[in-house]
Amino acid sequence: MIFLKTEDEIELLRQSNRLVGLTLAELAKNIKPGVTTRQLDKIAESFIRDHGATPTFKGFPNPYGDPFPASICTSVNEQVVHGIPNDLPLNEGDIVSIDCGTFMNGFCGDSAYTFCVGEVAPEVLKLLRVTKEALYIGIRNTVQGKRIGDIGFAIQQYCESNSFGVVREFVGHGIGKNMHEDPQVPNFGKRGYGPLMKNGLCLAIEPMITQGTRQVVMENDEWTVRTQDHKCAAHFEHTVAIRNGKADILSTFEYIEEVLGNRAI
Ligand code: MG
Ligand code: MG
Repeated sequence: MIFLKTEDEIELLRQSNRLVGLTLAELAKNIKPGVTTRQLDKIAESFIRDHGATPTFKGFPNPYGDPFPASICTSVNEQVVHGIPNDLPLNEGDIVSIDCGTFMNGFCGDSAYTFCVGEVAPEVLKLLRVTKEALYIGIRNTVQGKRIGDIGFAIQQYCESNSFGVVREFVGHGIGKNMHEDPQVPNFGKRGYGPLMKNGLCLAIEPMITQGTRQVVMENDEWTVRTQDHKCAAHFEHTVAIRNGKADILSTFEYIEEVLGNRAI
């Protein structure tokens, strides 16, 4: 069932999503060769709790294994999504996708950004740029009167025309009091199909794009998703609300990109 949100509810969603943007910016200050994703997780958890929120991902149930053990997902290089923070240091030339969720005042924030660790290869940089642009292309198609399939169609078209793969197994979602609500928002689709979009609809749009094959495999931890061919994957995510017919972006990359300066994607 799709729950359309009131203006007051959208403002609460915006606050929770602003905190996600601030948390990712705090992490951006610390992403460099030698730092471990577990260190980043600690920073994120303290930052979120110090701001009166809770990390939505921590303890998130998994029907096939243990609940998610950390406050952020950290997916390095070939890892696509849901990577578990660990004690391996990041290396020069790596990319790390960080997905962060907060719960504050009864509403969820959800946003993700793929960061470069030092200098990365030009073809990997292109993957990141195309994935981020695909997110905004999806958002431009998030308008009253279009259908959910229009979002995925636009994202798929753009990424495949750049010879990148579009992951099918994991998708965006409605968001509100719960992190995952209806409808599902695939990054692929048919124009003019799927649920009709209306004012008050709140969605997390999150292209997960691969450098090579779009096929993915699940690691034995039952969380980490990686590319089958071990090539890189990127992930950018915004939470948006349809207001006055158009998408209003509730999460933000502004704080992250202030920290990154000319290293922003
Ligand atoms: Mg997310
Ligand atoms: Mg999400």
